[in-house]
Amino acid sequence: MRKRNESVALVPTMGALHAGHLALVDCARTLADRIIVTIFVNPKQFSAGEDFDAYPRDIAGDAEKLRAAGADLVWIPDADLIYPPGYATSVRVARLSETLCGPVRPGHFAGVATIITKLFALIRPDIAVFGEKDWQQLAIIRRLNTDLNLGVEIIGCPIMREADGLALSSRNAYLSADERVAAATLPKALALAAQAIRAGDDVAQALEQARTKLAQAGFGPIDYLELADEETLAPLSANAPRARLFAAAYLGRTRLIDNLEV
Ligand code: AMP
Repeated sequence: MRKRNESVALVPTMGALHAGHLALVDCARTLADRIIVTIFVNPKQFSAGEDFDAYPRDIAGDAEKLRAAGADLVWIPDADLIYPPGYATSVRVARLSETLCGPVRPGHFAGVATIITKLFALIRPDIAVFGEKDWQQLAIIRRLNTDLNLGVEIIGCPIMREADGLALSSRNAYLSADERVAAATLPKALALAAQAIRAGDDVAQALEQARTKLAQAGFGPIDYLELADEETLAPLSANAPRARLFAAAYLGRTRLIDNLEV
């Protein structure tokens, strides 16, 4: 592709693809001549006790969806090709990795930053496309790309949601029927809090009301529900031009995340 001077967009994923992933492929198609999708359930971004073994995998279904979506190349590397014996290097993005999901998922963002650095080095894409669903991850990758002069154009795509507002996620497959109904409370609570904050209500009170709503719907524990600057991820106690709501909470054994512009 490079020899033919074709521009290349990379869409990194962990597979179990849904419409949110395919929206990234659609977005990539408008930006580059060729689309490369990677599927790699990256062991280094799962903390001890997380769902690495249980994480949904569907290579045949994924390949079919990517063919239909018009991806040019799908790469599904084995873990020992990415991390051969003797592998010793990790990439850590300070500050941005230490807030929101950082403290509750030790090692997660270093795992993400490391695999993205490796995929950029291996594939050398012109563009890489990520979902705003994982907003903190996107902010970290932008920082990493700038700090290490990786030279990739980083594109963020809007969150794809179900009709009731729940953000599409491979982990939604873990939800029981009752949990699936309750899960829509997460985007609803964020939307109400965003509305209240925009209207000038007290931020701490709006966040507390949203937490109560989640608890009433059966969420718990709530890892965080915060207002933060969407670039630095620094917490905000009052509305500001780049204010964004961020939440992570468990519903049964499933951990859901979401974020919303204020
Ligand atoms: P994952 O397979 O969960 O690692 O996600 C791969 C990419 O898809 C990441 O850039 C995610 O942010 C993105 N993604 C996942 N779910 C959604 C969604 N509902 N809307 C938009 N992008 C998403």
